[in-house]
Amino acid sequence: MALGSPRARETVRRLQADVTSGRWPVNSRIPTEAQLAAELGVGRSTIREAIRSLAHLGLLEPAPGRGTFVRSLSPVRDVLSGFAAEHTWGDILAVRRALEVQAAELAAVRPDSEAVAALRAVHQADLDGTAGVERGRAPGQFHALLVELSGNRLLVELYAGLSAAIRDGLDRGAIEPGEDAAGRQDDHAALVAAIAAGNPQAAAAVAAMHAARDLRVVES
Ligand SMILES: [Zn+2]
Repeated sequence: MALGSPRARETVRRLQADVTSGRWPVNSRIPTEAQLAAELGVGRSTIREAIRSLAHLGLLEPAPGRGTFVRSLSPVRDVLSGFAAEHTWGDILAVRRALEVQAAELAAVRPDSEAVAALRAVHQADLDGTAGVERGRAPGQFHALLVELSGNRLLVELYAGLSAAIRDGLDRGAIEPGEDAAGRQDDHAALVAAIAAGNPQAAAAVAAMHAARDLRVVES
């Protein structure tokens, strides 16, 4: 990525900003090389090189003969899930805990009633067993929404990348949900309550305590 002329790097930066800003929605086709070259005032080969760089990051996907399509608005998920896989499950879960504590704290700062209602609905669906009963699935949905409620897009992307690695760990039996399923649901109820009350300290404390009993590394 750091290779190339200043003009090539600037072209990558501008195209990446276009993708990240949502100028072209996911799965849409971006303008042709010729159009982009005219727009950015660079040669077509520079555009082609920039598209290759962004394809490498998982943002764009060139389809020969059909154009180039947007695959993701952010490089973080793909890059992070691959990078996380090179670390121990214990390290991955520790980072997940840090992100969840931060997310819970942020979610409890000026929570809006719609967000709280949505979180409560997911929690209730978990209790009712209607939200996918496979092990590890239902807690995932609750946590993904909780992180969304932080309102911090970077945190959401980091968490999504980590979650992909964790799903892999669950599938492979390297990570498993804690044994105390009822306790986990009590924690979720306490999280909803702390967020609804607009109490960031309490939300962070519950999230920190909950992480240890939510998922754990399977001893081999
Ligand atoms: Zn949980």
